Amino acid sequence: MAKSKATWDGFSLKPRREMPQGLWMRCPTCEHMLYKNSVVDNLNVCPDCQHHFRVDSNTRIAQLVDEGTFQEVAEELSSSDPLKFTFRGTQYKDRIDADAAKTGFNEAMRVGKAFVKGRGIALAVMEPEFLMGSMGSVVGEKFCLAAEIAIAQSLPLVVVSCSGGARMHEGVVSLGQMAKTSAAIARLDKAGGMFISVLADPTTGGVTASFAMLGDVIIAEPKALIGFAGPRTIYQTIKIELPEGFQRSEFLLDHGFVDTIVHRKDLRSEIARLIDYCGKEKN
Ligand SMILES: [Zn+2]
Repeated sequence: MAKSKATWDGFSLKPRREMPQGLWMRCPTCEHMLYKNSVVDNLNVCPDCQHHFRVDSNTRIAQLVDEGTFQEVAEELSSSDPLKFTFRGTQYKDRIDADAAKTGFNEAMRVGKAFVKGRGIALAVMEPEFLMGSMGSVVGEKFCLAAEIAIAQSLPLVVVSCSGGARMHEGVVSLGQMAKTSAAIARLDKAGGMFISVLADPTTGGVTASFAMLGDVIIAEPKALIGFAGPRTIYQTIKIELPEGFQRSEFLLDHGFVDTIVHRKDLRSEIARLIDYCGKEKN
C-alpha cells in the first residue's frame, strides 16, 4: 500500500481526513496503525509519536474547559453572501448550508464563557471543519463579542485558532475582519484585559496576520503549521526551498514568534497557571 504523509497544500486544500470511521486509524507522522479509542482517550494525540490530531470545536471545548461549563452565545449568527460569490461552481450560500449541515454549527467560530480549572474565561474556538475555519464577517463579529465579554466581565480571553485564513468568498469584507479583530484586542488591552492565544495546526493567512499573533501570551501546539502564505504558495512564488521545519511551532519558538509550545495534555494547567500569574490580585 502506498504510504502517504498528510500535508498542508495551501488554502485550497481539502480538509484532512485524520479520523476515519472505524476502529483503527493511521498516524500521519509515525504511520503506526492506532486503535482509535486509544487516540481519543489520549486527547486525540498519537500515543506513539505525540502527533496532535486536528480536533473539531466540540472536542476542543470538551478537552479544554471544565465539564459542562461552556455557555455559548451568538450561535445563531450566520454569514450572508454580500458578493454573490461562486467558487468552482458552488455558490457561497450553498457551501455555508452544506458545512452547517456537516458540522452542526452556523459558522467557523464558537464563543462564550467557560471555566478552566475553576478560572472564569471568555472563550473563542475555531471550527476547522466549517469552510476550513476561515474568517469571514461572522467570525470577526463573534471574535469581537468574545472580546467584549472579556472586557465587560473582567475575564481573560482565551482563543483557540485553527484556520485556513481569511475567507475568500467574502473578499474585502473578510479582510476587514483582520482590522476589526485587532481593534477589539486593542480595546481589551486598554481595559487591562489579558489575551491568551492558542495556535493549533493549522493557523494561517489572515488569522495569523491579525488576532492570532496578538496574544499577550501565544501558545502553540507541537508541530503546528503557523504562517501567512502556505509553503507551497511561497515556493511557487519565489522558487526557493524553505528551511527545514519552516512555519512549524518549534521553528517559530526559536525565532521568537510564539512564547511557548504546550502539549495538549498540559494546556488546561498552563492556561490556569498563566491566568493566576498574570491576573489581577484579588482584594
Ligand atoms: Zn504517531
